Amino acid sequence: MKQARQGARASAMCCWRRTQAQGKKLFVAWYKEHATVWLTRQATRWSPRLAAKPKAVQLCDLSYRWGSCDPDGTLQFHWQTILLPPNIVEYVLVHEMVHLHEPNHGKAFWRRLARAMPDCQRPAPKGSGLVRASPVDQTTTEEVAQAKLLYTIESM
Ligand SMILES: [Zn+2]
Repeated sequence: MKQARQGARASAMCCWRRTQAQGKKLFVAWYKEHATVWLTRQATRWSPRLAAKPKAVQLCDLSYRWGSCDPDGTLQFHWQTILLPPNIVEYVLVHEMVHLHEPNHGKAFWRRLARAMPDCQRPAPKGSGLVRASPVDQTTTEEVAQAKLLYTIESM
């Protein structure tokens, strides 16, 4: 009797975990779908100002990064990007769109980003997971190092 009860409990736990995993998959799919639409619309809005048009906007699990720009012009964003404050999402998008012109984080990159978003010198909001919005023009070695931490997610 005791074994049957333990077996039923183990089966219920297994079923619950399976349901939880399925639920997470559905949520992630929902976020990806809606974030793709929203970010594509934002990219279209920014496109004339940046003179850059991504080949495609894709949402996926980028591990510790918020975004990336493939050499073929495809922009990828972590599906959790859409959970960030809107101004940070916009910053991540513009950051990746600037990479369509400047693949590296050199001075030309930060100058172009500063022209597009003049107010992005301010520190990133606390808890946003971003270390700093942008080192902009007077890029020092330390600032470049900080910029490399830009896409560090504080906690996942
Ligand atoms: Zn970058």
